Amino acid sequence: MDKETAKNIRESLTADCTKCFGLCCTALNIVASSDFPINKPAGTPCVHLQTDYGCQIHSNLRKKGFKGCTVFDCLGAGQVVSQVTFKGQSWRENSEIRQKMLQVFQIMEQIYETIAYTAEALLYDIPYAFSDQLRVRLKELQNLTKLDAEQLLSLNLVIYRFPLNKLLAKKPAYISEKA
Ligand code: SF4
Repeated sequence: MDKETAKNIRESLTADCTKCFGLCCTALNIVASSDFPINKPAGTPCVHLQTDYGCQIHSNLRKKGFKGCTVFDCLGAGQVVSQVTFKGQSWRENSEIRQKMLQVFQIMEQIYETIAYTAEALLYDIPYAFSDQLRVRLKELQNLTKLDAEQLLSLNLVIYRFPLNKLLAKKPAYISEKA
């Protein structure tokens, strides 16, 4: 994988809320803060989530104190869970999958975040042996996104994140040595 491919992977990690069933607005536990003025327990839809999964205050989020919503990015995890893992079935219309889907979103979101870090690391000028290890890890993570719901729920992400964290922690040291 060359830098161009890594760049394309990173740039492809974009949320498409039109293909998602409001998963971040429902699955996440949010404690009231300066970024989000109300407490929203995990698994409970936000009071502003509409039946079509749009946000009722979308054009006024910052003015109403919900600036966290304007910067949160699932990187595409939401639409993958909605359209690929659960094949277009929504937690709202199918109560049997509700809990599972919301839990899977939280796992997928972490996988996507880790893919983004890995793809970004591959954009640096790093030794081949190092980038080779990162490419292996990236492929491994991409494969995880194709697992079914049961497999995702039984994943121990630490097994994937720990070796990757060790690798990524090396990158700044290498760069500062070169500077
Ligand atoms: S305020 Fe809108 S974008 Fe933010 S969690 Fe609620 S529904 Fe989602």
